[in-house]
Amino acid sequence: MKEAPENSPVPSPLPWQKTQWQRLGAQWRAGRCPHALLISGQSGLGKRRFAEAFAALALCDQPRDGLACGSCRGCRLWQAGSHPDFLRVEPEKPGGPLKVEQIRQLGSFVGRTSGREGARVVWLAPAEAMNVNAANALLKNLEEPSSSVIFLLVTDSPSGLLPTIRSRCQSVAFPPPLEEAALRWLQESGLDGTDARRALSLAGGAPLLALALSEPESSETREQFMADLTALSQGAGSAVTLAGRWESPPEGVELAQLLQFWQQWLTQMMRARSCDLTFDQQIMGLLQRLPGNEEAALRPLFSFYDHLLQARQALTGGANPNKRLLLEELMIRWAKLYA
Ligand SMILES: [Zn+2]
Repeated sequence: MKEAPENSPVPSPLPWQKTQWQRLGAQWRAGRCPHALLISGQSGLGKRRFAEAFAALALCDQPRDGLACGSCRGCRLWQAGSHPDFLRVEPEKPGGPLKVEQIRQLGSFVGRTSGREGARVVWLAPAEAMNVNAANALLKNLEEPSSSVIFLLVTDSPSGLLPTIRSRCQSVAFPPPLEEAALRWLQESGLDGTDARRALSLAGGAPLLALALSEPESSETREQFMADLTALSQGAGSAVTLAGRWESPPEGVELAQLLQFWQQWLTQMMRARSCDLTFDQQIMGLLQRLPGNEEAALRPLFSFYDHLLQARQALTGGANPNKRLLLEELMIRWAKLYA
């Protein structure tokens, strides 16, 4: 697989997405592309970019080497962000819900015929941000597929989708890449070896998340959040005060993202204990302070992980929960782990 021409902003898949890309590309060339794909995997693997690259390929008039050419009329429309056969559906603000009105508007896009007699592509992310009404509205579109429309649904948590939606999509799943490939990409993106390794470990192996975590604003906020959670685990500070402080995180970071960091720390603690690995000092400190050092002592940690996951789904799933109460409950549970 060759990279797209350097001066072209038409997206191409990332180095670790080769297998999925080739399989899908072969289906596309053979005219056997399913009308709905569910692109899933943990956050930070480049799933949105993969979906964009595939959309660009489907809308390109003369693909080259299995990629969008970057120079035909379809590609130029794409580059201008004005391709009439491409529809991007995402929350009005980051972390917000996908509303039923947004999904209903799909109807007019799906219903008309392509001005260019080619494919039309609906790109929708994050799919788990649809509430039940929105999901049912989408289901109607998936049940009566128009032959030339391809739905690309992107999600970090396929379990947060209606089973009826999942069953109508072909799954394209992304595991984290091999560490070596991820580190190489991070270094090519400008991180030095040590920073790349540290960020990748924090990001649970997800390269794009690792890169985002290396931004100074993000890492400052994260370190402060970690410091507060550490203090709470040591019996200092109060759950209620901390919930008040973090319900609206500093600009550039969403509450759902903070919960995601928290989940990653827990994952590392569990891996450190069960696989005898060593992570950074703060993580190891949190682990060592847990009461009991048997593997069974990790059980409360698993159940806390589930609470975090549910809280994140409530935040991103359009339920619009009371953020302070949600955070307060998590902080109290966290403190109890160390009681
Ligand atoms: Zn093209």
